Amino acid sequence: MKEQKEWNDIAGLNRLILKFSWWMVIVIILLSVMGTLISFQFNVEGFMGVAVSNVLLPTIYTVVILALTHVLYYMFKRWGEYILLLGIFAILHVYIINFPFAQGIHYLLIISVLISALYYQKEKIYFTGILSLISILSLYFFYEPLSRELERRDIFAFIGIFIGFVFISVGIIYRGHYLLKHLEESIRNQEELMVRNIMMDKASKMDALTDLYNHKTFHEYLDRLIEQSDQNHLSFQLAIIDIDNFKKVNDQFGHWVGDIVLKRVGEQLKLNVTPDDFVSRYGGEEFAVIFTEKNKHVSYQLIDSIRSNISEIVHPEMDHKPVTISVGMCSYVAGLGKESFFKAADDSLYEAKRNGKNQTVVAKIS
Ligand code: GH3
Ligand code: MG
Ligand code: MG
Repeated sequence: MKEQKEWNDIAGLNRLILKFSWWMVIVIILLSVMGTLISFQFNVEGFMGVAVSNVLLPTIYTVVILALTHVLYYMFKRWGEYILLLGIFAILHVYIINFPFAQGIHYLLIISVLISALYYQKEKIYFTGILSLISILSLYFFYEPLSRELERRDIFAFIGIFIGFVFISVGIIYRGHYLLKHLEESIRNQEELMVRNIMMDKASKMDALTDLYNHKTFHEYLDRLIEQSDQNHLSFQLAIIDIDNFKKVNDQFGHWVGDIVLKRVGEQLKLNVTPDDFVSRYGGEEFAVIFTEKNKHVSYQLIDSIRSNISEIVHPEMDHKPVTISVGMCSYVAGLGKESFFKAADDSLYEAKRNGKNQTVVAKIS
């Protein structure tokens, strides 16, 4: 997990490459010991004779170069990646120069191109690629031990393979960028879809004018509550609310004023209930509130105090007059069923209207 996170940022990748370089050095040292031992057919005396030049000196050079790379990397962090690549490039040369007789040793330079490819930047691949080509040509022409070993056709083959390798690496990067772009695009599309889904889900649940739950959500919630209540004998209360003489508001002041008043009444309901309660716009100028986690007396007091508050709020758009509401309320008892429950609340509302409006009537059955 930790390693994976390190790949994500360049500094982490650099640290990983530094770590890898030390491991690479250890492996190369072991290989040089093995190689030398094998070439002396495990004749320890013969091995000791060349141990200094074949193993000890390259090891010292390598460790010094790597330590220097480490220091320079931390001193000039800005150029960190190039310092690392040059350090690895130099270490590879220690072995190419020390073991020119090992066939194909110059192909070690491919390692530096591979490492530069880890940055997924084509500039770095061109950097190590061009550097390697210049170096191998210079060694071929000016470093006698290597030119003795290499035939001209070898060097042509090397250049061909090397250039091919560089271009394939760059191709992989282009492909990587392309895939990344598509991945980002599809993630963005998915996010947009999710946001749209959430918005559509909200729109299907809420009433656009009052931003309260709508009729459909109210019924879904009520069905769930009744089911739970029938099982667990939990009590809850329903209040159906209707604005009094609302038609007159529209007729006298216009529908836009009617809308403002509807919103304001909705806000008052939402602001004054507790977080356990559910406020919805049932339709037109009717609201339905479901009270949970409290007994019917507390619920009654709460809705009746809201009713009383609403009747005191004056509306500037209505010549500073208030509106009143009538409330029909019923408390659920297990087994009552939705239809009887709803009808009892509705009947109470009509009773409130008949009795002169601006009041709360509680159904007798509860
Ligand atoms: P009551 O006291 O008996 O309830 O009388 P009322 O006038 O309030 O009742 P009625 O059912 O006669 O009229 C309700 C009005 O509510 C009629 C309708 O135009 C209005 N109404 C319903 N929905 C909206 C709305 O979204 N905006 C506005 N402005 N008016 C609405
Ligand atoms: Mg009505
Ligand atoms: Mg009304």
